[in-house]
Amino acid sequence: MSDVVRVVVDGTPVEVARGASLLEACRRAGAEVPTLCHLETLTPANACRLCSVEVEGARVLAAACSRAAEDGMVVATDSERVRRARRMIVELLASAVDLTTAPELVALVAELGADPDRYGEHRRRVSVGTVVDNDLYVRDLDKCVLCYRCVEACGDDAQHTYAITVAGRGFDAEIATEFDVPLPDSACVFCGNCVAVCPTGALMVKTEFDLRAAGEWRPDEQTITRTICGYCGVGCNLDLHVQDGRIVKVTSPFDHDVTRGNLCIKGRFGWTHVHA
Ligand code: SF4
Ligand code: SF4
Repeated sequence: MSDVVRVVVDGTPVEVARGASLLEACRRAGAEVPTLCHLETLTPANACRLCSVEVEGARVLAAACSRAAEDGMVVATDSERVRRARRMIVELLASAVDLTTAPELVALVAELGADPDRYGEHRRRVSVGTVVDNDLYVRDLDKCVLCYRCVEACGDDAQHTYAITVAGRGFDAEIATEFDVPLPDSACVFCGNCVAVCPTGALMVKTEFDLRAAGEWRPDEQTITRTICGYCGVGCNLDLHVQDGRIVKVTSPFDHDVTRGNLCIKGRFGWTHVHA
């Protein structure tokens, strides 16, 4: 059996390694397929379906992030059926969730021509509220699209701490600790790896949250400087986000083949002494 499969995406023939996803094949063909729950460093959760594509001969749309490419597949990434499905997904999300800190998703709502206001009085908002129960990061669950990224980062895909999961169903579903205890009383070790993967700002480091509340968060003016964490011998890469001469946030590059965007509490939050 060949190690390569051949797929036609929007009329363009491409070859990908056997086992590669349809999303990889689409990207190799130059097709732009939007994603939300997908992240290269995480196992596909199949939660949002935004990456749906049409496979010739298949009854239902396929989630490109988790469907393996198969020899001979003919795929359409921008058919009317695909666009309608994506439009409905972002419309329902935008009708229920606060997307004020998710500009890419807001842009997609506009691009797809979605109209979240058309649900009128039947529109229901997620209203869990903002949970500030520690000094390091904030959970604003009205902004949560339930993509499962944070759950995966806290679990098998990175941290193996399993401090958070999705509790409840429907509009009552939320990211919660075990027995819904405050984060400091939970198993959380405050690595912030969940915050790093959150696509909507539902999880946000406290420094950014406070600056936004004060109207002082200005990402366009920030510089990002890469350095090496000095706390231990692992040598994780740190990206220092600096505004007005002060560190305002620390992240880690997702494309690093050792740390893949993850840090521990010291690397991500242990920098305040710099300004003491
Ligand atoms: S900070 Fe780390 S341990 Fe705590 S919930 Fe997030 S990923 Fe899990
Ligand atoms: S808190 Fe963020 S990462 Fe977690 S499920 Fe909600 S949107 Fe996704």
